[in-house]
Amino acid sequence: MIDHLPERLDLLASTEAGHVLHGRMPLARLERVLPLLESGEGELVVELELGKDPAGIRYVAGTIRGEVVLKCQRCLEPVTEPLDLKFRLGIVQDEAGAAALPPRYEALLATDEPASVADIITDEVLLALPLVPVHADDSHCGGFLQDYQAQEGETRENPFAVLAELKDKHN
Ligand SMILES: [Zn+2]
Repeated sequence: MIDHLPERLDLLASTEAGHVLHGRMPLARLERVLPLLESGEGELVVELELGKDPAGIRYVAGTIRGEVVLKCQRCLEPVTEPLDLKFRLGIVQDEAGAAALPPRYEALLATDEPASVADIITDEVLLALPLVPVHADDSHCGGFLQDYQAQEGETRENPFAVLAELKDKHN
């Protein structure tokens, strides 16, 4: 086990050699994830196993654990989402290789450039983030909802007319 995450990995050489890499990835380095986060503080614990399976397929199998803070889409307050991801990437060098991969692998294209470890982790985290993050316990968001409904009641002469309209749309 290597207790360090390199910036970049030569996918072909490192899967040939076989390694287990373990380390921490600061959220601040996940540039495509950052805009979705309420806070870029913190880091994810990452383990990457590189090797070749009995069929000769080069793979990167990994886990990503930690948490990210998103914006609740119900109350717009921060909501903490735990991450506990497992993934298994089959290294391919072209489209034919990707098409031939067994379904238990997602394809990861090896190019002439060493792969960015932050990029690999970014892709997995983006796949795992909820499309619409909300607090699991909606009583957390309740204060906001009550305020919102109170405002609606004040500004609209007949709030029930809106409800009736909504019902019509559904019928
Ligand atoms: Zn909420």
